[in-house]
Amino acid sequence: MRLAKLQLYTKILIALAAGAAFGLSANRFGFSGFVGVWIKPVGTAFIRLISMVVVPLVFASLVVGTASLKDLRTLGRIGAKTLAFYMCTTAIAVTIGLLLTGVVRPGSSLPLESRQKMIGDAAAQKALPVQATDEKPSIGDLLLNIIPTNPIKALAEAQMLQIIFFAMLMGICLTLIPPDRSQIVIGFFRALDETIVQMVHVIMKLAPYAVFGLIAAVVADFGFGILVMLLRYCLVVLLGLTIHMVLVYGTAIRILARTSVTDFFRGFRPAQLVGFCSSSSNASLPVSMECVEKNLGVPLHICSFTLPLGATINMDGTALLQGVATAFLAQVYGIELTLVQNVTIVLTATLASIGTAGIPGAGMVMLAIVLNSVGIPLQGIGIILGVDRFLDMCRTVVNITGDAACAVVVASTEGQLDTDNQRGCGGEPAKKTAPNGLHARPSEPS
Ligand code: ASP
Repeated sequence: MRLAKLQLYTKILIALAAGAAFGLSANRFGFSGFVGVWIKPVGTAFIRLISMVVVPLVFASLVVGTASLKDLRTLGRIGAKTLAFYMCTTAIAVTIGLLLTGVVRPGSSLPLESRQKMIGDAAAQKALPVQATDEKPSIGDLLLNIIPTNPIKALAEAQMLQIIFFAMLMGICLTLIPPDRSQIVIGFFRALDETIVQMVHVIMKLAPYAVFGLIAAVVADFGFGILVMLLRYCLVVLLGLTIHMVLVYGTAIRILARTSVTDFFRGFRPAQLVGFCSSSSNASLPVSMECVEKNLGVPLHICSFTLPLGATINMDGTALLQGVATAFLAQVYGIELTLVQNVTIVLTATLASIGTAGIPGAGMVMLAIVLNSVGIPLQGIGIILGVDRFLDMCRTVVNITGDAACAVVVASTEGQLDTDNQRGCGGEPAKKTAPNGLHARPSEPS
């Protein structure tokens, strides 16, 4: 089969394996420096390109999405379903993390000597993300901060919650002015939205090269040794993420959305690969939106509301990791968690994941809030920091899959899921599938 004819995700998978092998050789034979200087920038360029489109895409699509909900009743109903789904699945994710860690007890399995050494090393590390949380604002401040005093500043600084607030208010107000005027603004934003989506198609052509560069750089830097040291902790996180993805999302798709679980995962695969490689919900958003709309049959007005919101506030993978990490560190430090402390972890991890930005490593910064809430030494973050890069890649996949599952469930319960569109995706070469693995727009040559 000619390489150029392969689907995008197949090319990405090949690049992933090749990049890992190359990175491993670099780590083994000591040319990690070369990888950092010459190979990694290809990946960094891709992340910058895809991050470039996030703010205009979120803003334009949310204005159009909210305005096209037409009346406030529909907006309220869809908003309530979305928030309920996000909150419940996040709380379930933390609970799964806590239960698994309680059963496997990865923190207790470490020999006492190594545990003490780790604690010592962690205490010696100064460059922890702990300082970032020392100045954490109160819940009241956090809520007030959602209202931007200057929306242009919010856009320029990519303050996602502020952008979402302003875009939704604008969308609502567009439904309240006469249609002859609102249509001008909505038409403009719709065209802007389509242009940015087209930009994503162009940028995605670079994805396989970027994936090669990103993976090669991570493996070259850390090698596999670091993974071996905290293998059990990693395995608990990975097991938890898998259980959450398969059981919680699978059940939601099957029972609540009454649609095929296989089609769901197959149609969302390109976005998952971007999430895995970029470790960023924000950077994956353009591709997620494309997959959910074109491959999973969710109408634009629903996915342009649920997905940007989800990329900002819904982080099930992050919450699960925070649950596992907190319980793991409690075991390392010999602290037995009480029932009340476990409930506190569920609540704080759910809230902390809402405040976690959809960017690489943000979950580790917010972990300090959860550790604080149950009195676990913040230095513990140093123990798990080394393996977090890889876990970040995995939890980001779960974060964005949760957003997609919510979009499908909401669309289905609104009776607006286009299942005909779903059936063609991913498997056999569907007529409307573009060479990048995403479905082509009707106007686009296939
Ligand atoms: N990297 C994650 C995301 O963007 C956030 C985190 O847990 O660090 O979804």
